[in-house]
Amino acid sequence: MALGRRQLVSMVTVLLCLGFMVTALVNYVAARNLIREAIIGSELPLTSDNIYSEIQKDLVRPIFVSSMMAGDTFLRDWMLSGEKDLSKISRYLMEVRQRYGAHTAFLVSDQTDNYYQADGLLKQVRKDEVRDVWYYRVRAMDTPYEINVDPDMANRDELTIFVNYRVLDFKGNFLGATGVGLAVDSVRGLIDEYQSRYHRTIYFVDKQGRMMVFAGDHRAGNNIGEMDGLKALAPDILRDTEGGTFEYRSEGTNHLLNVRYIPELHWYLFVEKREDEALSGIRRTLYLNLLISVAVTGLVLFLVSVATKRYQDKLEAVALSDKLTGLANRLALDMMLQRDMAEHRRTGMGLALLLLDLDRFKDINDAHGHLAGDAVLKRMAEAIRTQLRDSDMVGRWGGEEFLVVLKRTDLNAATLVAEKIRQHVAETPVIYGKDRIFLSCSIGIAVLRDGDTADSLLSRADHGLYAAKQGGRNLVRNSE
Ligand code: GH3
Ligand code: MG
Ligand code: MG
Repeated sequence: MALGRRQLVSMVTVLLCLGFMVTALVNYVAARNLIREAIIGSELPLTSDNIYSEIQKDLVRPIFVSSMMAGDTFLRDWMLSGEKDLSKISRYLMEVRQRYGAHTAFLVSDQTDNYYQADGLLKQVRKDEVRDVWYYRVRAMDTPYEINVDPDMANRDELTIFVNYRVLDFKGNFLGATGVGLAVDSVRGLIDEYQSRYHRTIYFVDKQGRMMVFAGDHRAGNNIGEMDGLKALAPDILRDTEGGTFEYRSEGTNHLLNVRYIPELHWYLFVEKREDEALSGIRRTLYLNLLISVAVTGLVLFLVSVATKRYQDKLEAVALSDKLTGLANRLALDMMLQRDMAEHRRTGMGLALLLLDLDRFKDINDAHGHLAGDAVLKRMAEAIRTQLRDSDMVGRWGGEEFLVVLKRTDLNAATLVAEKIRQHVAETPVIYGKDRIFLSCSIGIAVLRDGDTADSLLSRADHGLYAAKQGGRNLVRNSE
């Protein structure tokens, strides 16, 4: 019975734990997949879209200003008439710079190789000068303008873009290049916001794989071909201008990455997110779920345990005790006898049985009624018990028969106890209402022998009892 209860409790434990664990894990995996899909499928591409459209928006103004400069009749006339008054072109470039908030406004003349700025003549461009390469590129170009990013950008705080516009005379001959260099602040602001608020890492990479990130970022100038995790993806990303979604491991976590090529800048835009940051919320939920599961499991186990224990105790009490007298019943006596016999075999100490039967009990029932009989049986139970040691056992063997099990007792001692009981019963009338009911009992004794079974032992006690009845009742007899 105790085993059944333990099995029930462990089964409930296993089922609860398994159920909770599977539910929590399935939920976690489902939520994780949803989050990953959302990041890869929409979050990162949307961020990239927004930044790209912001860049395009930012480029509209410098392109417009530069195109206006390249078509300006004053500027072209001034060049065609020999670039005579330096102050005029300085004032012009100064005005453009101030009005449009540009970093710089410039003009390079093909005729004189002069590089003009708002402050006047800066220098002359030279074919063999690395920093002037852009001019000769623009000179040879088919398109009206190009956008060029300041190569020193990483050292400053702002992303500065130059628009280099070709200046043509009225017949379409090349006169030089003009345009503005502008900081694109709004892109910067947008990127900052995405980085801080949405925990995304955003940077640009040029076609050689160099990271073009903003000042203060330790990764500026790094090459993705040499960076942990990204290294393996670099050839794939830089091979063409397709872009796409990638995934790599670095710093112990997965990084989800979206790459898009920005043709205006000849750069790749990288938007990435660490998976552990994205999943930290649902991971906390998972741990919380598991914690709650453990607590609930513990509580349920406790309740199940208490409830079944109480139920079992009650069942045992009902199953093993006699309802009328409250003594052990025959089933309990059987079990205890088996146990005591086993103990006796181990220790070799004596064990004696007294089988007690009330004399002419039928007459008591007949004379005083069945309820009086019951009351007598109850009083008998108490009376017998008062004559016994704590280690002795008494139970109701049947109708008006009681069985006493005496541990560590030989025949002589058992006979003394039996006599004591017989005498006590014979001398003590039961008071029932106004009636004083006198009664006596007969007792048969058996002492455990080697090779005895419970049946053989009981049967000898029964023989003793029979002998007592035959001898005239109110007697103690043994069959030894
Ligand atoms: P003796 O043992 O001395 O030979 O005579 P007896 O009258 O006791 O004999 P018997 O064993 O034939 O009768 C036992 C009676 O006990 C019969 C039955 O009605 C009565 N009895 C058995 N159980 C109960 C009980 O729970 N309550 C009451 N009131 N009577 C019971
Ligand atoms: Mg009887
Ligand atoms: Mg009897």
